[in-house]
Amino acid sequence: MTECDDVLSQLLLGRALDADAAAHVSACPHCTAEQGRVRRVAALLASDDVPPVPPALSARVLRLAAPLLARQARRAAWWTLARALAAALVPLPLILFLDFHLVRTAYGVLNVLLPGAVSFYVAFNYAATLALLLALTYGMIPIVAERQMRLRREECRA
Ligand SMILES: [Zn+2]
Repeated sequence: MTECDDVLSQLLLGRALDADAAAHVSACPHCTAEQGRVRRVAALLASDDVPPVPPALSARVLRLAAPLLARQARRAAWWTLARALAAALVPLPLILFLDFHLVRTAYGVLNVLLPGAVSFYVAFNYAATLALLLALTYGMIPIVAERQMRLRREECRA
């Protein structure tokens, strides 16, 4: 704490200033300007007289804070989306590796049992279905993350 803070704290607590502090108040323009306000605050605190809150205060505070709250919500939404994408992308190489070997093995087995064109058709359709399911799953991540954020916001408001 600076000497100004110490002196103003003593004034706020209603303590008598010693000679050094009184000399500082008379020499310091900041403390000279602040001492009247600090003594008024100290007197209000000592009297336990709480000024009434203006009725429009909370609406005004909410209106002024709305842009900041919206920016915070957007930032939190992006962070949630990034975490969800990161969590989903971690197992993706393993999933692709296993699917590749599954389709290749299935194609080899089908090639023994069926004509080549039919086994290729079945394996290709299976691979296309897997690709479509993966695309749908990863495409849903931003939607689910946004929904989770909306639900979390509604829980916070309730
Ligand atoms: Zn000072």
